[in-house]
Amino acid sequence: MKTNNLGYPRIGSNRELKKASELYWAGKITADELLEVGKNIRATNWQLQAKTGIDLIPSNDFSFYDQVLDLTLTLGAIPNRYSEIAKTNSALDLYFAMARGSQKEGQDVVAMEMTKWFDTNYHYIVPEFTKNQKFELFSTKIVNEFVESKKLRITTKPVLIGPVSYLLLGKEKGDGFHRIDLIEKVLPVYFEILNALQNEGAEYIQLDEPFLALNLTDKERSAITYVYNEINKNFPSLKIILANYFDCFGENLETVLALPVHTLHLDLVRCSSQLDDILESGKLAENVNLSLGVVDGRNIWKNDFKKSLALIQKATDALGKNRILIAPSCSLIHSPCDLDLETNDATLTPEIKQWLAFAKQKIEEIVLLQNFALEEVSLDDSVSFQQNTIANENRKTSKLIHNDEVKNRVASITTGDDERENPFAIRRKKQVDALNLPLFPTTTIGSFPQTTEVRSWRAKFKKGELNQQQYDNLLQKETEETIRFQEETGIDVLVHGEFERNDMVEYFGEQLDGFTFTKNGWVQSYGSRCVKPPVIYGDVSRPKPMTVKWAQFAQSLTPKWVKGMLTGPVTILQWSFVRNDQPRSETCTQIALAIRDEVVDLEKAGIKIIQIDEPAIREGLPLRKEEWANYLDWAIKAFRISASGVKDDTQIHTHMCYSEFNDIIQNIADMDADVITIECSRSQMELLDVFADFKYPNEIGPGVYDIHSPRVPSRNEMVHLLEKASAVVPVDQLWVNPDCGLKTRHWDETKKALIEMVAAAKEMRVAV
Ligand code: GLN
Ligand code: ZN
Repeated sequence: MKTNNLGYPRIGSNRELKKASELYWAGKITADELLEVGKNIRATNWQLQAKTGIDLIPSNDFSFYDQVLDLTLTLGAIPNRYSEIAKTNSALDLYFAMARGSQKEGQDVVAMEMTKWFDTNYHYIVPEFTKNQKFELFSTKIVNEFVESKKLRITTKPVLIGPVSYLLLGKEKGDGFHRIDLIEKVLPVYFEILNALQNEGAEYIQLDEPFLALNLTDKERSAITYVYNEINKNFPSLKIILANYFDCFGENLETVLALPVHTLHLDLVRCSSQLDDILESGKLAENVNLSLGVVDGRNIWKNDFKKSLALIQKATDALGKNRILIAPSCSLIHSPCDLDLETNDATLTPEIKQWLAFAKQKIEEIVLLQNFALEEVSLDDSVSFQQNTIANENRKTSKLIHNDEVKNRVASITTGDDERENPFAIRRKKQVDALNLPLFPTTTIGSFPQTTEVRSWRAKFKKGELNQQQYDNLLQKETEETIRFQEETGIDVLVHGEFERNDMVEYFGEQLDGFTFTKNGWVQSYGSRCVKPPVIYGDVSRPKPMTVKWAQFAQSLTPKWVKGMLTGPVTILQWSFVRNDQPRSETCTQIALAIRDEVVDLEKAGIKIIQIDEPAIREGLPLRKEEWANYLDWAIKAFRISASGVKDDTQIHTHMCYSEFNDIIQNIADMDADVITIECSRSQMELLDVFADFKYPNEIGPGVYDIHSPRVPSRNEMVHLLEKASAVVPVDQLWVNPDCGLKTRHWDETKKALIEMVAAAKEMRVAV
């Protein structure tokens, strides 16, 4: 029985990689200095895992930006637009140009596209393929890192994305082919890599095929069969670990069980039933081992040893100990690095801390589980086992976690609690009368520029250099100026600007019971960007109003309507580490009730328009289509619960960005927000067609300009977009707004752009 790690965080326990990369991009350190930081992180990670007792230690899990981009470079799939850069720059700079674009010395190339890695908050660089795509071994990173580990006397297990998933992660540029057709072209380069690794003495190779957790076509499944048979034919003595994670194999299981691989890795955290499925099928070949992913690689909770040992026992009873490996469910790059660095007892109290495990603690858990399963340590004598049992037991009853009032409230939700008083058509009439807005009403999505100054106030306030009064005064001044600017510009529905918020989830988490925060629980999101998600550890409730003071203050400054601004329950859930001791739906409903109370309090305070942002609804969709309906059911219901406590003439808005709506438009309509604002300008209003075809009944604000760029759009281009929108959606349903919040923009461009936007709306009003 071996311990098998799938990947270790590469950002460094103190985000060394982030800091070094950003210094390198700013020209402040040399390439050699950056390379040295990478080398040190790899050595530290390998040595830590070796010392802890991990048998199969991954290499090539390190990356200076993204593992998919690494592979793109390795396979030489470099898009044409980088060919000049490739000639005149180092491979490292070519790599960063592909990741981030490059503007220097007359060169100007855009970056490759980036998108979410399955259902995680990690983002990868999307490979681009042409019909005549050529692949060639361009970088030997994977071999170099293996050799590097050997020099440290650690024989690692090189990890790379398998050829089928690699192709499926990419996008076709041009028509007339499907990217899976490239499989025969890419495979020879994989062979070159495997050959080189074999020559260097690699014994185990981990090939990740996470697409096996998705619904595949027959053609894609045949590609899997073809690839792994070819690999086995050509490299019969390499031990191939085929890793799948984030869900079961589902209907791909038959295919997978017939593959001639050394080991199958299973994510038993997401899908523990597949162990039974495999064992009961009787189809697991006698020479195939199972790697049991029992330690959650994506969340921060301490493992439940009893539960894991029961799964391990089941597997060893059926297959014998030698055929079992103990592993995390997926790569640990989705976990924060080290719980030992959490020294702030005020937020992460010892009681909460005893329930947690980060990457370093997770590899210790894996080794402990192996020891227990091999009976090298008796459970009765093991302090670690006792502590684990105690922690998991007291989590079940802790007063910190369990709040009967909240549980009872969720249990007593009845039909009607997720419904407004009347249907939209009736609400609408009342809102028209109450709000008295022009056609093409103008608004923004909520935030205004978070300048360095505003951020510095918050930093000083947190350090105690500003007291509450001083901090509030500064924020009030900023809010007032923003209200004045919007009035002068002629915007119809104003916002207060969100200056008091650090982040749209953290701000609410800090004020809700059941949430806590880490000091150093960073997880890579993309490139050098890391996020520090809040931790939802207990029943969620709202001790007191969270946004009313600011909304009321802003409303008091102006006779125009000020829109209250909240983050929705699904987005708060999605962007936090969530409880694993109850279903996500339960936690989401608790948050929904807290937000509902806030919405009602805003209404009571005289706020007539309230926006509940839900940018993360789509990304919460499960990987397998058959699970979509269940998710959408509770997620949409949670939004409705949050929005339904108010009277008909209070107008509820929602906002979503980066979303495709085609396959969930019915569910979006079911949210029944009076107004939805969506990102639309980069798609030239194409995203709106789905709403038009569906005959979406409520009001819509399709974004008329891209807020991701400092570029100021012209009035004409916005008029043009609004004309396009008017052609497909009745004009009395349309709102005029930017694509998203303005917090990353500067004031200068923001002012210019909004002045033009209002002018464009006025032009439209005259035209109808
Ligand atoms: N109200 C938020 C803002 O304006 C919405 C952000 C988002 O959609 N991601 O910043
Ligand atoms: Zn947005």
